[in-house]
Amino acid sequence: MPTTTPGHPADAHRPDHDPSGPLALPEGVATAAQVARAAEHDGKVADYIAPLAEVDPSRFALVASELDGTEHLDGDVDEAFAIQSVSKVYSLVLALQAADAGSGVEEELWCRVGREPSGDPFNSLVQLEHEHGIPRNPMINAGALVLDDVLLDPLDDPVAATCELLSELCGEEIGLDERILRAEQSTSHRNRSLAPLMADFGNLRNDVEAVLDSYIGACAISMSSRQLARAPRFLANGGVDPSTGRRVLAAPLARRVAAVMLTCGTYDAAGEFAFSVGLPCKSGVAGSIVALAPDRLVVCAWSPPLDAAGNSVAARIALHELAERCGLSVF
Ligand code: GLN
Repeated sequence: MPTTTPGHPADAHRPDHDPSGPLALPEGVATAAQVARAAEHDGKVADYIAPLAEVDPSRFALVASELDGTEHLDGDVDEAFAIQSVSKVYSLVLALQAADAGSGVEEELWCRVGREPSGDPFNSLVQLEHEHGIPRNPMINAGALVLDDVLLDPLDDPVAATCELLSELCGEEIGLDERILRAEQSTSHRNRSLAPLMADFGNLRNDVEAVLDSYIGACAISMSSRQLARAPRFLANGGVDPSTGRRVLAAPLARRVAAVMLTCGTYDAAGEFAFSVGLPCKSGVAGSIVALAPDRLVVCAWSPPLDAAGNSVAARIALHELAERCGLSVF
């Protein structure tokens, strides 16, 4: 006689232990959006980039984009905003594409930028001095500046190359938010402190201003939540864009990008995200968070007010609710 093992009583509150099973995506998205909206006034909109401070904090979007192209949508899904640090995922993708083309290049890349969580804010300077100008990972500002330096060797214009890749993945033209670009070009004091320090340690090899231009341009790329959920589906599909069948990245490299997103993509809150969402995530300071559910879908949640770590409060709640209710966690 087959036997069944009753679940632990402590699991009884978990939606994925509901005997009726996980929710279907349409209901999951609607319910997660409703729960998250209740928190849309918690947190604080980033104001160190002036145009971000003018955004209506009650804007909210939640998109689940399945590999077969089916989309589940709630809220302001077509409103565009600057992708900010989500661009760091694409800088890593382009750097790994370039590394894949030349032997030994990937090893060199990982000598110049680590793959450990930093435990510090995304724009912190303190570790760099102690760690000889080698950033902890590519998902923080210092790490992305190193990637931008790496990309200036094989590419004439890394920002244009990023927009070209994103346009292909979205099937729509992707460009820059000129107001954000100008605002960050005239400020970016933190990044203007990080870059020369790394150059002094020999870890930036191109002109520091050219590296900063690439970094700032990538942060100003403008996309909607719908586009942000659509573009990285290749990372949830073994490196192959499910719309076109084109291989964007070798499967082991796509896994590495996802691993770095899980451990480092939400900065000092990556542990909390692994615990409460259970998906590789990347956040941006304009309030978006993109999450990969391997072999299934990509989610983008957007709400401008941020917590102290620089991650959107309501977007994190939306991802937690959706992952729990629909059983998406990778664990
Ligand atoms: N452009 C922002 C900066 O350099 C990006 C930071 C972020 O999105 N976390 O500070």
